[in-house]
Amino acid sequence: VVVLAASSGGGLVAYADSQPDQPQGFKKKKVVVLGTGWAGTTFLRNLDSKLYDVQVISPRNYFAFTPLLPSVTCGTVEPRSVVEPIRRILEKKGGDFKFWEAECFKIDPANKKIHCRSNMGTNLDGNGEFLVDYDYLVVAVGARSNTFNTPGVTENCHFLKEVEDAQKIRRSVMDCFEKASLPYLNEEERKKNLHFVVVGGGPTGVEFAAELHDFVTEDLSKLYPSIQHLVKISLIEAADHILTMFDKRITNFAEDKFGRDGIDVKTGYKVVKVSKDAITMQNPATGDIAVPYGMAVWSTGIGTRPFVVDFMKQIGQANRRVLATDEWLRVRECDDVYAVGDCATINQRRVMEDISEIFRVADKDKSGTLTVKEIQDILEDIYVRYPQVKLYMKSKQLNGIADLIRTGKGDTEKESVELNIEEFKKALSLVDSQVKNLPATAQVAAQQGQYLATCFNKMQTAEQNPEGPIRIRGEGRHRFNPFRYRHLGQFAPLGGEQTAAQLPGDWVSIGHSSQWLWYSVYATKQISWRTRALVISDWGRRFIFGRDSSG
Ligand code: FAD
Ligand code: MG
Ligand code: MG
Ligand code: MG
Ligand code: MG
Repeated sequence: VVVLAASSGGGLVAYADSQPDQPQGFKKKKVVVLGTGWAGTTFLRNLDSKLYDVQVISPRNYFAFTPLLPSVTCGTVEPRSVVEPIRRILEKKGGDFKFWEAECFKIDPANKKIHCRSNMGTNLDGNGEFLVDYDYLVVAVGARSNTFNTPGVTENCHFLKEVEDAQKIRRSVMDCFEKASLPYLNEEERKKNLHFVVVGGGPTGVEFAAELHDFVTEDLSKLYPSIQHLVKISLIEAADHILTMFDKRITNFAEDKFGRDGIDVKTGYKVVKVSKDAITMQNPATGDIAVPYGMAVWSTGIGTRPFVVDFMKQIGQANRRVLATDEWLRVRECDDVYAVGDCATINQRRVMEDISEIFRVADKDKSGTLTVKEIQDILEDIYVRYPQVKLYMKSKQLNGIADLIRTGKGDTEKESVELNIEEFKKALSLVDSQVKNLPATAQVAAQQGQYLATCFNKMQTAEQNPEGPIRIRGEGRHRFNPFRYRHLGQFAPLGGEQTAAQLPGDWVSIGHSSQWLWYSVYATKQISWRTRALVISDWGRRFIFGRDSSG
């Protein structure tokens, strides 16, 4: 390992350590992983640590189980219960790992180096900056909260992204209640302090609003009886509905339930300004309205981190909003850099770009036409390389020729039909409309981390036996199947021990039974037995004693 520490004076300090247990002449490749969130941690947990010299860099030295952060905001679950130190995770795996608590602020792909900064600033001139070189770089830095440049948001709103955010929210909720209880306030001021505003009707905003409502009705109303009737929770969403990524049935149920609970759901309103005392929102019918508030949580979406934007400029992705990778999670136009999780999106290759090549490969007898059977023989390979084709073949909007391809098997009459290239193009012309970006979820990030680790584990063997699914000219040979996402379902906790679950195949379940499913899934998904025990005991404590309201 060689780490170069750059001082701003231009001098470089080199630290080197030898690897005594290595066979002579064999040098492990250096893998540098940025980030210890869902993608980075899952990658590390699945990587065969004997094969690489691994360095992990992240400004926080722990993994956080983000799906439980909304529960931390109201003390249903304690902050300690949702985090696991990364050093403990690495130590359990054994092998060659190093961790540096620092932030990467620049990627230099031309020299295969990254620039890092520790916020502890302890090297010679105290700026805490150092350089790390890599053979392979795995970027798993997640995303930042997006304010869409709305004035006043950064200064006045809470975000809900990190454990610290959840802790701050919890303190702030309690402060609002204590402030509203002080003797010298008038009714108006009490109301203002007890107005909680959630901006953004996505899963996080909705879950937080539900959690806060439960906290208020189940715990705080007893402790603050004289002011509890002044509490108001508003949920502001710019679109026409909340939870738009879910099935319509779930959206409707959530809106109705919130209505019954007295949560004021304001859809079709865009927040345009936040000041210390008021939130200004806009609606074409009403114009601007400014409402006084006590505390606001901003949860409207995510954006790209500035140093990733800078990296994108360097590699010719300046016109994109999110870092693009190919289906093997390799950053486009950049050798040996991979990106996983919320910081990247997969740029799915279009069928139409490769249609002539696919035709050529499928036409085994070189007749210049394809029989239905010839197409069907290659269909499985096509599905692997272009998942949109499978989605299309399952959808109802098939055109005549595509329908023939789907149903033609075993039918002698249909099998004798031959398609020329134009007809083949026509059959697949609508296929690319099925391409969808994967959602920014822990589920996607974890699956990508796991997939990439599998590729890294097999990289050496694969180099000796290159083989892959369908080979398209100009793309080189692929040794692995592309990443394929398996959606296992999604939850939307709605408060009052009710959860909506949407499972694959449009299976929707709402109510108390899904709440129990939610408990069991999240208990199972815990990263260690320690956090599992802590989370379950937090839930038990809450059932018996209620939530803690000190803070
Ligand atoms: P993250 O998990 O955000 O990890 C990024 C890592 O990079 C962190 O360790 C960070 O410290 C580090 N980092 C940041 N900057 C740098 C830098 N400059 N250099 C080095 N390291 C850096 N998803 C679900 O599937 N189900 C849910 O129920 C769910 N609930 C959620 C609830 C909340 C409140 C939130 C905020 C998210 C939730 N998500 C959920 C989404 C999920 O958390 C994200 O999709 C997931 O965390 C993405 O993983 P990631 O590894 O890409 O990024
Ligand atoms: Mg990560
Ligand atoms: Mg995380
Ligand atoms: Mg992504
Ligand atoms: Mg033929």
